[in-house]
Amino acid sequence: MKVIPIPCLNDNFAYLLICPETNEAAVVDPSEYEPVFKEVQKRKVTLTTIFNTHHHWDHVGGNDELSRHFPGIKIHAHISDRDRVPGQTDFLEDGDFVQFGNQKGSILHNPGHTSGAITYLFGNMAFTGDTLFSGGCGRVFEGTMEQMHHSLNVKIGKLPDDTQLYFGHEYTENNLRFAQTLEPKNEDIQSQLTQIRKLRSEGKWSTPSLLSSERKINPFLRCHDQTLQKHVIQKQPDTNLDPVSIFTVIRKLKDQF
Ligand SMILES: [Zn+2]
Repeated sequence: MKVIPIPCLNDNFAYLLICPETNEAAVVDPSEYEPVFKEVQKRKVTLTTIFNTHHHWDHVGGNDELSRHFPGIKIHAHISDRDRVPGQTDFLEDGDFVQFGNQKGSILHNPGHTSGAITYLFGNMAFTGDTLFSGGCGRVFEGTMEQMHHSLNVKIGKLPDDTQLYFGHEYTENNLRFAQTLEPKNEDIQSQLTQIRKLRSEGKWSTPSLLSSERKINPFLRCHDQTLQKHVIQKQPDTNLDPVSIFTVIRKLKDQF
């Protein structure tokens, strides 16, 4: 399966997925119609499917116009996003299978950022929306901190090291600057930050990111790390040392960063 990132709005990514055997395509999170339509035309593929990771407008904004231009297009989202995702035709639950062309995938339900947030898995590729970013995670709007911690560390965290993460926003540089405040001596964060700044200065993006790398640099996957815990305790001396309490403190610190 071929994946083409399509930058949308200010810092969003939609992703065009192409089945090389059938020339059918799917799009993950079409924030807007125009850039997606252009890419579909340029690649000369048949767009049959939309995969929405959650209901936020900057992830579903292109649904209506795409379904007008591609009648019969299937629109997937979590079952709990019924009436919140424009044009939804397929109502998914944790572990459900999805398909376009000959490409078969499955979903993980990841409540936290929103109650119906999902990750789409195709082979070693994961489309995480606003649940997991490179160096960070989404804000916890509708779920609890426990749910978000579980979604990231248990559901996504159990995936293999070589999983390629295709996330919803280019927030990586800011995320890593925050990560550095928690682990100033973490050399992986420092070298990743240097690399990302170079990429960005060349007009390139940081998507996708490897899960093995995120385990070394992303504070929201590192709540068990003792050095990180020590820095959190310095900032908030009354914090318990269990991973969910650490997660809660760093998510709140990031909200203010
Ligand atoms: Zn969102």
